[in-house]
Amino acid sequence: MPEEPRENISGGEDGSVEVAFAPGEAGTRAEAVVDELGGLYWQKTYGGKDAFESLVRTILSQNTSDVASQPAHDALMERYDSGSEDLAVALAEAEQSELAETISSAGLYNQKSEMIVGAAERVREEYGGREEFDAFVREGDPDAVREALLDIHGVGPKTADCVLLFAGGRDGVFPVDTHVHRIARRMGLAPADADHETVREHLEADVPGPKCGFGHTAMIQFGREYCTARKPACLDGPEACPLYDLCDRVGVDEVEEAVVDPADAAAE
Ligand code: SF4
Repeated sequence: MPEEPRENISGGEDGSVEVAFAPGEAGTRAEAVVDELGGLYWQKTYGGKDAFESLVRTILSQNTSDVASQPAHDALMERYDSGSEDLAVALAEAEQSELAETISSAGLYNQKSEMIVGAAERVREEYGGREEFDAFVREGDPDAVREALLDIHGVGPKTADCVLLFAGGRDGVFPVDTHVHRIARRMGLAPADADHETVREHLEADVPGPKCGFGHTAMIQFGREYCTARKPACLDGPEACPLYDLCDRVGVDEVEEAVVDPADAAAE
């Protein structure tokens, strides 16, 4: 079984715990898919990470690979997380141009530095600092936490759900990124024309809570290795994809070797 790659996870490598899910009959096709991914990849539950740092990390990783955003994260932590001062306070008071330069390897650094300073100001004003914010994310009502996160400028549903998952360790949160969005609709686990929120609702309804976090991270890896946007593995034949028997292949024409977005296939 391959090692869980460091760059695989939006939330980094900390705070995860290896688990072995008890084998059994999957109640839904989505659960069967996640169980199959468990045979291919790692099985972990998530949670326990610092919520404010997760938020910063997730903003840094927006529209870029984790490989590119990791050095930016490391540079930011080295410069602003001195240990003596609260990271949220330090970032709220940061010179934006200096922060932008520090995180330049992540791309879109002007925009991201603005979002990070704004988020830090918000956390300082509303919660007092990172520890209080962490406690709120860990212990607060999940819907209230999600709403509060979405209210921060630059935080969309995926960022909010990643913070809930990696910091709060909430069972039943299945963040939907571009890979999950594509694969769930191609496989027929959600309607072909579903937006990110609708895909999330379907997956969270069909996959048992403890398997959602793992399902999210493993599905991203599966999207990179097998079910890529332009050339899904099944174009090389059924045996090339380990999930072939569980998949509707919406928008995938194996005869013509052509691929369209599932929403476009459904509209035809
Ligand atoms: S059968 Fe094709 S479309 Fe379905 S999961 Fe596998 S690679 Fe993706």
